[in-house]
Amino acid sequence: MRPAAQYFDRRRVFPKISCAFILTGLLSACTSPPDSSPDVESASTVSWPNYESAAAQGFIEFCSSQYQDAQQRISALEQHEVKEAMLLSELNQLERVLNRTLGRASLYANVHPDPEYREAADACDQQFTGLISELTLSQSIFSQVADLDLDNAPVNERRYAANLLKDFRRSGVDLDEQAQARVKTLQDDINVLGQDFYKNIREDVRYVEVDATDDLSGLPQEFIDAHTDEASGKVRFSTDYPDYLPVMQYANNDALRKSLYVEFRNRGYPANEAVLKSLLEKRFELAQLLGYDNYAAYITEVQMIETPERAQQFIDAMNDMATPTADRDYQLLLTELRELDSSANSVGDWQKTYLSERLKKSLYQVDSQEVRTYFQYDRVKEGIFELTEKLFNVEIRPWAEGQPWDESVEAFEILENGEVLGQFYLDMHPREGKYKHAAAFTLQDGLAGQQLPIKALVCNFPAGNDLMEHSQVETFLHEFGHLLHGIFGGHQTWMAQSGIKTERDFVEAPSQMLEEWIWSPDVLALFAINSDGEAIPAELIEKMKAARDFGIGLFTRHQMFYAALSLNYYNRDPAELDLDALAIELQNHYSNFAYVDGTHFQLSFGHLNGYSAVYYTYMWSLVIAKDMFSEFEKQGLLNTELAARYRSKVLEPGGSRDANDLVEDFLNRPYNIDAFARSFGTESAQ
Ligand SMILES: [Zn+2]
Repeated sequence: MRPAAQYFDRRRVFPKISCAFILTGLLSACTSPPDSSPDVESASTVSWPNYESAAAQGFIEFCSSQYQDAQQRISALEQHEVKEAMLLSELNQLERVLNRTLGRASLYANVHPDPEYREAADACDQQFTGLISELTLSQSIFSQVADLDLDNAPVNERRYAANLLKDFRRSGVDLDEQAQARVKTLQDDINVLGQDFYKNIREDVRYVEVDATDDLSGLPQEFIDAHTDEASGKVRFSTDYPDYLPVMQYANNDALRKSLYVEFRNRGYPANEAVLKSLLEKRFELAQLLGYDNYAAYITEVQMIETPERAQQFIDAMNDMATPTADRDYQLLLTELRELDSSANSVGDWQKTYLSERLKKSLYQVDSQEVRTYFQYDRVKEGIFELTEKLFNVEIRPWAEGQPWDESVEAFEILENGEVLGQFYLDMHPREGKYKHAAAFTLQDGLAGQQLPIKALVCNFPAGNDLMEHSQVETFLHEFGHLLHGIFGGHQTWMAQSGIKTERDFVEAPSQMLEEWIWSPDVLALFAINSDGEAIPAELIEKMKAARDFGIGLFTRHQMFYAALSLNYYNRDPAELDLDALAIELQNHYSNFAYVDGTHFQLSFGHLNGYSAVYYTYMWSLVIAKDMFSEFEKQGLLNTELAARYRSKVLEPGGSRDANDLVEDFLNRPYNIDAFARSFGTESAQ
């Protein structure tokens, strides 16, 4: 991760939000077609080719023209050719060019059906990332901004300039030449080490092999058949998720689960030992060069949580809160285990998923095969649209001028009182070469009076009348939450404040909150209807909710182990760090499930690169999500007045205010952990 700036770091300027974690940044490139939004850009007005459906060459030309445009703008800024009064607005226009180009590049690199197109988009992405790197070290532009007298400027303009200066400084712009060169080298090294770290995890696929005559009971027969080599009579399972998860969940054979677990927790070993150590060292050196005690101090500075000490306090508070519930559920797992092995006196990390699955079935009788009959894709989509229209008093209709990149992609626009607020694409079904997870991409952020926000949801769901899992419906709504945030928040004056450009430890909160809607009988009544036209029964929803709460304490504590590991690797001088010893100590402290000898989990914990010290962020934004949701719980999930208030206080300001202030404004009080704490008080497993 490049340590640059909130505004020019592409990961901040173009955040792509994935449901599980934030990947590298993102996307957003071209402006909307000229006929759908006024383009008041003065100089170098771009004529937008219909490159969406054209061959890769079209995109290469587009990227190249944007690159020249951006370079000319940077050069004019560096040469003092831009008048002082125009400086910030010219920087704003430069960000607009970067945003729309990187947005498209990042999206197409992940979804375009033509491999050549994807390659061209990747190359464009790298080219622009390099350009941003140069820009953030420009002493000339930095000092021109620093010299501006903004005492009487509007508050958002002052915020823009102040954050810009902070980001330049965080990139090392005011260091001497020698230190700057070192910063650049460190950044390049860190990038390469991060790529190596991922690669060593990705490529280290391990296997466990057993005889077909061994105990494979519990596993689905077709799963066993697919992994059996008839000639040798051996059955082989890999550490990839499609193998690993079913084995951990269903296999009755404890030794099989344990051996696959040990292989899984050894991916990246030993290759990543040196890589991780070096990554920590380089980031430590970088942070010190930039004037920080350590990398955790550097990275938390721009989060809501602000300091590593507060992050540590948060982790400990969560851990304390979760412990009673965790201990209770742990005892249930142990009792379940003793039915299988009367001598057992502890539950192993490789046993928890299997035992939880058994307990959920016996305690809650939730049959996921039954649940899914209520979720047909087309109906779910219509239901989520209807929910949005009702809640926020908007209209969603097909967007005729949209330019989908594949025939399965649909284009829509959102209107309010006849006025278009933004546009979006749904790219919802798997196809070859497409991104494998679920994410909300930004094609471009909106700019008041100049361009509308355009988003894209990229998922891998069943199509048409095919059935979805309840968890997929939840993911759909989660990603749709990012999309709405980007569109409602996409009407700012400053590009750097448009859409979802809030603090990283807040950005998941609106989407995490929206997930709650999918557990409400009133909301499900809109679309959870089976092929006989029957709505999902209320008692089934109740059972699903009870099963959802089981194990939340255990899960939270284990997450706090991960969060503590991420923070504590980065909050000290790595010279004195024993990677294994600290991982063992923290797992045994935070998790109910003890460290298993001979494993090196940290070497396959990819988020140690992407999230670095701030893996706590997921839980942090969840706490805020639960607090905001408590208002809807009180006043009704379909309360349009409250939804309008939420939209105007939290979503519409985008990144123009601190997230702390947004949330406080909505709640009329500072947020707290009470609502989250209540989830640990549920009598879930009696
Ligand atoms: Zn998300």
